[in-house]
Amino acid sequence: MIHYSCDRCKRVLDPEDSRFLIRVEVTAPLEPVADEDYEDDRDHLAEIDDILERLEPDELESLSEDVGRVLRYDLCRDCYRKFIQFPVGREPAEQFGFSEN
Ligand SMILES: [Zn+2]
Repeated sequence: MIHYSCDRCKRVLDPEDSRFLIRVEVTAPLEPVADEDYEDDRDHLAEIDDILERLEPDELESLSEDVGRVLRYDLCRDCYRKFIQFPVGREPAEQFGFSEN
């Protein structure tokens, strides 16, 4: 029996619960872009880098900066809901930052 685990929180996914498969297509622009656009792209790439850092080393090894890649993630329901709201990882700080004064 195949067990899937969530790529985000590492929780073993219940086969009877929903498993969400996320496909992230990463492509490098073929043409040079204007500096402003490039900055914007850099920002998103940094976020993706952040995600990639949580991947297994051999998954990283198969990545190339030169060609597009489709990354696949198995997510549990909770992580899927977070992902789909903030696909590049920009969760609002205030969501977690309740002060305790
Ligand atoms: Zn999860």
